[in-house]
Amino acid sequence: MMPTRGAPQIFVLKEGTRRERGKGAQFNNIAAAKAVADAVRSTLGPRGMDKMLVDSLGDVVITNDGVTILKEIDIEHPAAKMLVEVAKTQDEEAGDGTTTAVILAGELLKKAEDLIDQNIHPTVIASGYRLASEKAREILEKIATKISIKDTDILKKVAMTSMSSKAASGHRSLLSDISVKAVSTVAEQRADGSYFVDDDNIQIVKKQGGSIADTELVDGIIVDKERVHPGMPAQVDNAKIALVDAALEVKKTEIDAKIEITDPTQLQAFLTEEEDMLKRMVETVKKSGATLLFSQKGIDDLAQHYLAKNGIYAVRRVKKSDMEKLAKATGGRIITNLDDLTAKELGHADLVEERKVGPDELTFVTGCKSAHAISILIRGGTEHVVDEVERIVHDALRVVSAGVEDGKALPGGGAAEIELSLGLKDYGASVGGREQLAIEAFANALDVIPRTLGENAGLDPINVLIKLRSEHGKKSGKNMGVNVLTGEPQDMLKANIIEPLRVKTQALQSATEVASMILRIDDVIASRKTPTPPPGAGGHEHGGMGGMPPGMGM
Ligand code: ADP
Ligand code: MG
Repeated sequence: MMPTRGAPQIFVLKEGTRRERGKGAQFNNIAAAKAVADAVRSTLGPRGMDKMLVDSLGDVVITNDGVTILKEIDIEHPAAKMLVEVAKTQDEEAGDGTTTAVILAGELLKKAEDLIDQNIHPTVIASGYRLASEKAREILEKIATKISIKDTDILKKVAMTSMSSKAASGHRSLLSDISVKAVSTVAEQRADGSYFVDDDNIQIVKKQGGSIADTELVDGIIVDKERVHPGMPAQVDNAKIALVDAALEVKKTEIDAKIEITDPTQLQAFLTEEEDMLKRMVETVKKSGATLLFSQKGIDDLAQHYLAKNGIYAVRRVKKSDMEKLAKATGGRIITNLDDLTAKELGHADLVEERKVGPDELTFVTGCKSAHAISILIRGGTEHVVDEVERIVHDALRVVSAGVEDGKALPGGGAAEIELSLGLKDYGASVGGREQLAIEAFANALDVIPRTLGENAGLDPINVLIKLRSEHGKKSGKNMGVNVLTGEPQDMLKANIIEPLRVKTQALQSATEVASMILRIDDVIASRKTPTPPPGAGGHEHGGMGGMPPGMGM
């Protein structure tokens, strides 16, 4: 507002504070968010390209995972950062669909820009988007197919779909099989019949060497340690397992104590006493009935020797997290004082054995008391491959878990988005008014998924869309998505391209939330920097817009 003549002009903000308001602020934010979406667009789908990310030290990450890319690149613009958060949320909540969520958010904002140009108020757009998103969830629930934990074939396809754009595609079948079996093993049923999956029960162990094809599912726990003494049995059937968080060592004195020995019998007595203590420790283990010992601490050489003599397989310096897994899996209790060790505290496993994996020996604890203990041993030629396979398996476990927990899946390849888009247009017409325009914009924004899938496959995106829409107009067409090889519509369920419901609902929800949030901002003011400059640093506080560089920062 212009100050009226004569009235003093009042400055609330410090002179020189950067501030942007109205459409200027909106368009700037939208442009930044779109730039983020554009940055990951080309990676979407089975024919998406990879990105090579190079940091200042020259380290390279090659990936096509939306969230990994956005986590790695340096983004400064506040609105752009909000989009990165969307990818992170998507990753946490659904484990897949990160690129989709970000592209959708970008497209929702792009469509909103057109509406703002037509003088539709951003709050109207935001409210239309919210209505559309609620309706979308309803429609998705309706068009989803039911799946159960017993449908291992379908679950496997869900896993395969999540891997389709990733490297290691030659091993998709094996890795999917493993993922589905792992999830089915740890899934627990609730009283109402639904399932929940605790990923923590699936242990992932990486061992470089061999090939991806050597990756295997192990029914139990893998401890990345060998037995301490070659004289011990390499294999123990029907193992009774002691878990101790105590050292089988004679306590060394803290300070450098000097023991003065004046004649040979004294030396003998001293040594014998130490020996006796260690012997007694091993005796305690043996008396409990244990045939296996996992110690979180050390085991003295002499104790190792006695343990071996007694046929007890022992492992030392086991990680705390492994000890906890062992306790859970074998039903044993971790004791901190060796004297407390009795038969009652022992865990059980059908077989414990040492196996050579690559250059190392590992201890495999299989046939555990708990039916919910399972491990995946990931193999691969190089460290990069092993890490990549871990990421792939991680995603597969998440989508299969989502499928098992929700019991619902959707056709991929843009099929769900097209069906949704058509449904929302009908819905918009029933709402009417200005919000109808926003709902229609939302419906049109969804086209970005099939369009981009086509584009990335080198197809004509307009053709892809026209053909898909026409198929979805037919009664039997709701599962038609894009075949990225031919560009022709194809039934995605028949083509085995299936995604869990949660991936789509979560992507829509977070995309809508962030778009609305960005739309409602009409004033961007540089806020005061919170950290005060160190004394003597000159304390210049002027101008600089905290965390907001000029331009879009990308
Ligand atoms: P996101 O990070 O969103 O999961 P992806 O690169 O994994 O991105 O691509 C996912 C999209 O690719 C989904 O829409 C999915 O349905 C689609 N898709 C996956 N495999 C195929 C396929 N074989 N043919 C067509 N679309 C596919
Ligand atoms: Mg994916």
